[in-house]
Amino acid sequence: MAALPEKIAPGIFRVDALPFTYAISVLLVAERDGWTLIDTGVPGSVGRITGALTALGAEPGDLRRIYLTHHHADHIGGLAGLIAWAPAVEVIAPEREAPIVAGEQPPDRRENPLLRFLDERQQMPVNPVARTVREGDIIAGFRVIATPGHTLGHTSLLHEGHGLLMTADAFGALLAKVQVGGAKVLCTDPPQAKRSAEKLVGYDFATAVLSHGQPPRDRARERLREVTARCTWA
Ligand SMILES: [Zn+2]
Repeated sequence: MAALPEKIAPGIFRVDALPFTYAISVLLVAERDGWTLIDTGVPGSVGRITGALTALGAEPGDLRRIYLTHHHADHIGGLAGLIAWAPAVEVIAPEREAPIVAGEQPPDRRENPLLRFLDERQQMPVNPVARTVREGDIIAGFRVIATPGHTLGHTSLLHEGHGLLMTADAFGALLAKVQVGGAKVLCTDPPQAKRSAEKLVGYDFATAVLSHGQPPRDRARERLREVTARCTWA
């Protein structure tokens, strides 16, 4: 079943990468030369994302760029399938995440023993990364903001013109309510994730999109500020 894209700003659409609302959100952004996809979900997300593109009138050749916010499997999992669908697509990743996405370096080492066990047994797909970015670079009109902690090279995206923040996993509600980094066990470096959250809520935005979970409907910045203030990871 194709995912119906949800318009959240002019030319910017949120797509549910799983058949559960807000479980995994990816973004499609219209650009002059075609579409840019932000994150790819899991391998099973490919049909939903290509279905959303088709519903927006796009053909494979119109998917020009894929930006990966970080290397976790629920963000890069659809990459291989999307490259198969749109072979000319350019894959872009943060400087520090790219070697992990490309399978040249192991994933971040997490503190939690169970997650570490799973991480170490995870088959990292080998994907080409054509271009790397750093803080301040622009992707599809969004400014790249380094928000390390969830992973060491994690990035969020801020669209200043639309007052729109894509937190990726700098905030998330994977387990229950919105937390810094999704949850402490999901972060490589929880205190660093808290510092990144503090940095992020210092920017000006009215609307937020989380990779996981329903974002605060109104006063997004104030609500995420409250979440950050409650976080006790020193
Ligand atoms: Zn993640």
